Amino acid sequence: MVDVEVREVIEDAAIVVDGDRIVAAGKQASLDTPDDLKWIDLGEQTLLPGFVDAHSHITINPGLLGIIGQLDGLNEPSPRQVLRGARNLHLDLASGVTTMRIVGEVPDNDFIVRDAINDGLMVGPRLLVSGRAITASNGHGSLVPAWIVDGPDEMRRVVREQLRKGADFTKLIVTGRQYRADATEYVGFTAEELEVAIEETHRVGNKIGAHLRADLDTGLRLCLELGLDFTDHVFPTDQESIELFLSSGATAIPTYAVGLQTWVDWDALRGMSIAERLAYIRERDAERLGDGNIEAALMAERVRWILERAPDDFMRSVRAGVPYAPGTDAMHGLFAYELEIFVKWGLDPLDALAAATIQGAEALGVAGETGSLAPGKAADIIAVDGNPAEDITCLGNVSFVMARGLRLDPAALLDHAEVSG
Ligand SMILES: [Zn+2]
Repeated sequence: MVDVEVREVIEDAAIVVDGDRIVAAGKQASLDTPDDLKWIDLGEQTLLPGFVDAHSHITINPGLLGIIGQLDGLNEPSPRQVLRGARNLHLDLASGVTTMRIVGEVPDNDFIVRDAINDGLMVGPRLLVSGRAITASNGHGSLVPAWIVDGPDEMRRVVREQLRKGADFTKLIVTGRQYRADATEYVGFTAEELEVAIEETHRVGNKIGAHLRADLDTGLRLCLELGLDFTDHVFPTDQESIELFLSSGATAIPTYAVGLQTWVDWDALRGMSIAERLAYIRERDAERLGDGNIEAALMAERVRWILERAPDDFMRSVRAGVPYAPGTDAMHGLFAYELEIFVKWGLDPLDALAAATIQGAEALGVAGETGSLAPGKAADIIAVDGNPAEDITCLGNVSFVMARGLRLDPAALLDHAEVSG
């Protein structure tokens, strides 16, 4: 068992679950266990807390229908979107993800799916949702059905409306471009609009995140100074930025894997296990990016930037203590690939496991409920074949999944992901 809070591997471990709660966990010999337990023997496998994906979407699949087409999915009839979402969430569960922050669905699909899971109408990870993403009239994302908001008063109304519907977070799209090849990046909102969104969200005790770019001058500095909680797709790129993150306490949520994998070939992945899917992505990357041959890659500029800058930026920020948590941005079933990237760039595998669990839970404000195998927390438990503290790639071999006390069969979840297309 991996204790992600002290970053240690415990041999001969056991976890006692009662209903949806963990009541004891640790070395089996040290646990005071009643006689009438029903034991599940997982042999030599490693127990971990369920993973926390800090940035994803329920219904989107990156690359499906193309870079813009993937967002066209948001224009499909709502029931079809929800069915695709159910398929995606089964992939996430099969890969060990039991908690997700969902940052932009329409129309209200995230509220509906979250509540359906909580009410037992379908199985899925614990979802913490933001409702629609909020962007400016000319902002990034304004061609899809996001909330279009101009002016502080409208911002206040829209944020409040989402809160009334039950949003757990607010999600802004601050930086970006319209979907034209020649368009430049710009900041969509004024300082006043941002301030109102942050104030209204914080007033009810919720957190707020934004789609941003890494350079401070494209809205990031403003957002950090105003008290934004999550920076999506962004990691500090220099000392000044690191210091701003540290003083603001914001959590950086990088989404490196999707940045390298804009075209996930979902058809090619059909019929594959999670381990096979990860192997496919790994091999495809080595072949496509390994020799610097990124000319053909979609959005080559971004891919080049990630490959050249991100490894050093990432490790420097982590060592400086910048809070961070991994997100897949809808790479359903491929959460472990983001962790593989962290480790490839120099992160200790145990630190990557902590980032994937307790750090994500802390960032999302649910560390009292999930993120580690501590007594009192929800029974969000997975097991993998192998020791991920030594070899992070064994995370593809998820053999056991329990989400809030409900035991699920990873193979059956994958089967469902096949039939529902
Ligand atoms: Zn996203």
